[in-house]
Amino acid sequence: MWNFSFVIPSFMILLILLGYYFYRPKLSIRINDTFVSLLVTDFLVILFDMLSSAADNHYERFSVTCLSVLNLLYFVFFLARIFCFFLFLTDVLKMKLLRSPQRLAAYGSVFIAAELLTLASPFSGTVFYIDAAGYHRGPFYHVLYVTFLFYILLSLVLIRRRGAQLKKEERIVAVLYNVILLAGNVIRFLFPTYLIMNTFCLMAIIMIYLTFMNPDFYRSDRGLAFNDRAFRTVLDEMYGSKLFRVLCIGLRGYSDAREIYGAHQMDVGISLIADYLTRTFRDTEVFYLRNGRFALLGDETMDWDYIRSSIDRRFQKPWRAEETDLFLNVLFVRVSDRSAWTDADTMQRRLLSAFREAEGNMSEAGGLTDLDEIVDIDRHVDLKRTLERAVEENRVEIFLQPIIHSSTDRMVGAEVLARIRGEDGQPISPNLFIPIAEQNGQINKLGRQVFEKTCAFIHDGNLERTGLEWLNVNLSMIQCMKRDLAVEFCGIMESFGVSADMLHFEVTEAAVIDMQLLDRQITALREAGFKLALDDYGSGYSNLTRVKHYPFSNIKFDMEVIWDYFRDKDVLLPSIVSAFKQLNLSVTAEGIETEEMAEEMKRIGFDYLQGYYYSQPIPADEFVRKYAK
Ligand code: C2E
Ligand code: MG
Ligand code: MG
Repeated sequence: MWNFSFVIPSFMILLILLGYYFYRPKLSIRINDTFVSLLVTDFLVILFDMLSSAADNHYERFSVTCLSVLNLLYFVFFLARIFCFFLFLTDVLKMKLLRSPQRLAAYGSVFIAAELLTLASPFSGTVFYIDAAGYHRGPFYHVLYVTFLFYILLSLVLIRRRGAQLKKEERIVAVLYNVILLAGNVIRFLFPTYLIMNTFCLMAIIMIYLTFMNPDFYRSDRGLAFNDRAFRTVLDEMYGSKLFRVLCIGLRGYSDAREIYGAHQMDVGISLIADYLTRTFRDTEVFYLRNGRFALLGDETMDWDYIRSSIDRRFQKPWRAEETDLFLNVLFVRVSDRSAWTDADTMQRRLLSAFREAEGNMSEAGGLTDLDEIVDIDRHVDLKRTLERAVEENRVEIFLQPIIHSSTDRMVGAEVLARIRGEDGQPISPNLFIPIAEQNGQINKLGRQVFEKTCAFIHDGNLERTGLEWLNVNLSMIQCMKRDLAVEFCGIMESFGVSADMLHFEVTEAAVIDMQLLDRQITALREAGFKLALDDYGSGYSNLTRVKHYPFSNIKFDMEVIWDYFRDKDVLLPSIVSAFKQLNLSVTAEGIETEEMAEEMKRIGFDYLQGYYYSQPIPADEFVRKYAK
């Protein structure tokens, strides 16, 4: 007589798990399919275990065929469940068995043999047989145990071999649930009438669910979207096997918007957008990649132009987050499988740089950046490597550009501009590598090299040789955040026997800075005897109170401001120039490209002029040869 005390509660718990799992939105990735197969086979095993056992208990009321079919189905699914556990493990270990039929057949041969033997039972009584006295085990009954044992041991071997890619906790759970299955197998062997094996399988499934398959691992906490872990997982799986398109949507100026509207309101807004995208574009999968960025993933037929214009239209209206109307703007980046990604990580990194690029391109209407067509993104990666090498090997060079005194037309100073060289030996623009150096912290080393080489240049007597009075060195805001900057630079200067009055620093105002620290740094540089110039005035963040507040002695007008004046001459530029002069500040015009510009700037009252009309920046040694008297 079979005993049902374990199997019924197990069945009920499984039903809860099934309901819960199917109710939550899931990603279409293979491991989910495998897990669903496991849940479904487990359901069938338990179902037919109960049915066949109940029928066996009252065998006299059922026909032999009916008993045979019920028992046969139970054994067939019983074996299938073992194999599903095994397949699930190979998915966890990223073995991609299902993509290679030969390997699948090799690993599955024991399972198939066992199934064939089971299927033969009704005809030749191999695993079980039914006679007038009901159900009996056949001579090959132990094939069930052996198959089970085989796949558990194989699983443990695979975990040992390939488990290094799992997190520690995952590895432990993988071993543990296989040990539990093994224990179930032993107990079934010892107490065959108790139908207890299912309980052990259910324990294993719950462990798998909690550690590997919880759908919440892939959900973002903003609305209905999936998260970036899900995005990587799906891409990794699609890459090389499916055609796909990704349209990414980014909120312009996301961090500013967060400050303006507040973090909570923005979070609500993001959830609203996530829900809107999920509900509107049902053929695509929606991911929230953090920092105001979403991705829509679709197959190769995805109509991204249509989607893009719908989203554009929606964003013309505000998003109502509780009491606030959020006015947000979007930019788009798109990618497809045509690009030669090697893995999801590379692709995500490139997406990020594409977003940065698109953010920088505020003027570009609609801001659609097509990754397939942007070669620059590959270059960005190369550039980072080139920069790292140049900084490590002390190969950052200095170029000099003359600064002309407007009343005498004489070169009195020069600006030091950093260069690194690409693989072709051509100099690379600092506009490309300085932002990278600022992001990855190399700016400090780079700035130190520039400063050392500038001091060496002065130490070698090149100022006298070329008739220069001083050199201007650029300082980035990030460098100013280094607390011992003044001490470090004074040390370098002293070691080269250079005095501070030969050096000026150009600083550009940045948006967000630690004002108190900046105050202290600028005072320290001033006290060390350096003169300070405000660079790129008028290009963005220029803030009148700060100009007044800091001890600048020179204001360098950004070339955009100068060029704008030539496009549309008005009184603005001349009045600002005269205002600065009344404050006893000298003023420099950058970007002078023609004689006409030079004359006009002199007339307006600029003290110093700099630009291609006089000279482009040139390597320091060439500069000496050219200007030596
Ligand atoms: P900046 O300090 O405003 O330097 C002036 C830039 O304008 C230089 O670009 C120069 O080549 C360019 N320029 C000068 N005259 C003309 C002209 O007539 N027409 C045009 N179209 N351009 C002109 P460069 O050398 O590419 O430097 C770009 C920026 O990179 C610099 O802008 C500066 O902010 C930064 N930078 C350069 N070297 C360093 C450095 O050693 N440290 C730091 N922190 N930043 C640097
Ligand atoms: Mg400068
Ligand atoms: Mg400038």
